[in-house]
Amino acid sequence: AKSNGRGSYAFYERAMLEAAEDHRLLENDVRHALKNKDMKLAYQPIVDGETGELVGREALLRWHHPTRGDIAPDRFIPIIEDAGLIHQIGDWVIREACEEAQRWDEKVPVAVNISAAQLTGAGLAKTVVNALAVSGLHPNRLELEVTESVFLGDDPETLSSIERLRGLGVRMVLDDFGKGYSSFGYLGRAHFSKIKIDKSFVRGAAGGDQQCVAIVNAILALADGLGIETTAEGVETEAQADIMRDLGVGSLQGFLFGQPTFLGENVVNIGD
Ligand code: C2E
Ligand code: CA
Ligand code: CA
Ligand code: CA
Repeated sequence: AKSNGRGSYAFYERAMLEAAEDHRLLENDVRHALKNKDMKLAYQPIVDGETGELVGREALLRWHHPTRGDIAPDRFIPIIEDAGLIHQIGDWVIREACEEAQRWDEKVPVAVNISAAQLTGAGLAKTVVNALAVSGLHPNRLELEVTESVFLGDDPETLSSIERLRGLGVRMVLDDFGKGYSSFGYLGRAHFSKIKIDKSFVRGAAGGDQQCVAIVNAILALADGLGIETTAEGVETEAQADIMRDLGVGSLQGFLFGQPTFLGENVVNIGD
């Protein structure tokens, strides 16, 4: 047992050292990626639940690493945050998305993901004002998606930041609703234009899980009462689309309707 314990200790120690080394390497690479335009935005369609017409697109950050290949945002965004680069990259994402959306034929909104770290600090509203002015995009075509995690620190700056952004005429969206720390209370604390129902409920409801159906129904009733739009995320099958439609979800997003794809060349240089 003793050697076993020592063995697993050595194993964890090595794994931790490797993770730290990995993290440090990637952090350097992030700095290079900014210069080399190795990061781009892909856009995934969001369609009307009833008519199937395009009602928006979500911008999703993509990083093609020169040697490691594509790295998923769930992996590199925490590294960007730790490296203190989220403001620089986050600002670029907003400017790029506004510029690109303004060139689309379809005058639908573009949804941009915002990290909790971007919401605190005064810079975000300034970036948004600037991106709208430079691109000429109407504020109601910009949606800013935040998750409930932004409320966890209970930072008063978060709420005032959301209200300041809303005051600019952009739409605030509560992402991944139902996942994690969900509380309907968040909906009373800030004014959201839309709730995105987490894909776990889409999967569960289509799989016959009656608790998931009940929760989606409750979310929809609440959204309806508050005048908030709804999108179901991660719709992969016709059965999932059908049940979300039948329950009355406003719009649908997922691989069934389209993968995130590149629509053009980078318009804005990262690091500008
Ligand atoms: P998210 O905001 O919830 O974005 C939706 C994720 O679901 C995307 O993953 C998308 O590719 C994926 N997805 C779309 N349809 C389906 C489907 O039918 N089935 C399944 N299984 N997945 C689907 P992605 O692109 O890997 O992004 C992961 C997360 O990274 C995003 O989750 C978002 O939280 C974050 N992220 C992406 N881009 C940015 C960004 O520019 N800034 C910030 N702060 N976060 C970002
Ligand atoms: Ca999102
Ligand atoms: Ca989501
Ligand atoms: Ca581009």
